[in-house]
Formats: sequence, structure tokens, C-alpha cells
Amino acid sequence: MSVTPADDVLVADSAVPDDVNRERIHPGRKRSHPLWELFDVEDGMSRCTLCTYQVKGKFTSTLLNHLFSKHQNEYRRIATIKQEKDSEREKVKAKQPKLKILADQSSPYWKNSAEQKEIDENLALFAGSSSFAYHLVETFEFADFLSSLNPLYKLPSRETLKKSVSTIADQIKTNIKELM
Ligand SMILES: [Zn+2]
Repeated sequence: MSVTPADDVLVADSAVPDDVNRERIHPGRKRSHPLWELFDVEDGMSRCTLCTYQVKGKFTSTLLNHLFSKHQNEYRRIATIKQEKDSEREKVKAKQPKLKILADQSSPYWKNSAEQKEIDENLALFAGSSSFAYHLVETFEFADFLSSLNPLYKLPSRETLKKSVSTIADQIKTNIKELM
């Protein structure tokens, strides 16, 4: 058995609109998206206050689409407000102490630690079962991406990763033989 590239997996778009989630988690909390100054919600319908448009539900993406196609100027105004709000929120976040900073100060995983091994193995499984571009592990951008997820993890070199992939492939082969 060889480790074959997996077919592209279609990931179901299960994204629940923000507002729905917020309602679920904090029922009754005021909807915060600036677009709500242009829409009324009644009996589960969202109504545009600028025209006769109405739609079931209160999905910000649907309503933004409506603004975009029918009320360009308002759309632009709302988008600007939203952007300002978001960057305000980012600033507040930036002021809060970050876990990441704490993590940055501690030393990376010891190379034989369970944590390092587990991620190494998952990376090898991923690389071996996809058309993984091995040179990625040598790029700063990929390292940076991983470090933003887990600053303690140390990426293996391209050669080490390739070795791990073939070790795992051998292991899988052995396991399958034992099963037969
Ligand atoms: Zn409208």
C-alpha cells in the first residue's frame, strides 16, 4: 500500500452566522452589527427601512448583500463603520495580556516530548496523505503560521519530515498485513 494523495475533501460550509451564535449564547443581547440601524426585525423577518425588501431570518450576510446590490452608498457607510468597530476591538484586544506572550517566553518542546511527537506525527500523516509541498516546512511563512498556533512546536526539516512519512507509511503497511 502506498500513501496516496487524498481526494480533495469538500468541507461543508457549516458556518453559522455570527448573529445567530451570539443570540444563542447571549439571548437578548443587542445585535451589534452597524447594519441593524437600517433593518427592523419583526416576526422573524428582517425588513429594509430604505425599500420594501424583506427576508426571513436575520443573517447579516444576506442583508449586507442586499445593501451592496441596492443601496451602494449605505453599504459603503456601514462597511466603514464596521471596519472602525473591528479595529477598535482589535486595539482593546491588543491591550489585554496575551497567552501567546507567555508561551513565547517558555522554551520549545523537547524533541522527544509527547507534544512534539504528536504534532510531528500528525504533520507526517497530513503530508503523506495529501499532495503536501515539502518545501513549505522551509519557508518562513509556514513556520510563522504554525508558531501562531503553537509557538512551542519546532518544525522538522524537510528530510526529517520525509523520513517520518515513510516510517508512518511502513507502519500502516505492517498494521494492514497483521489485519489480513
Ligand atoms: Zn433595501
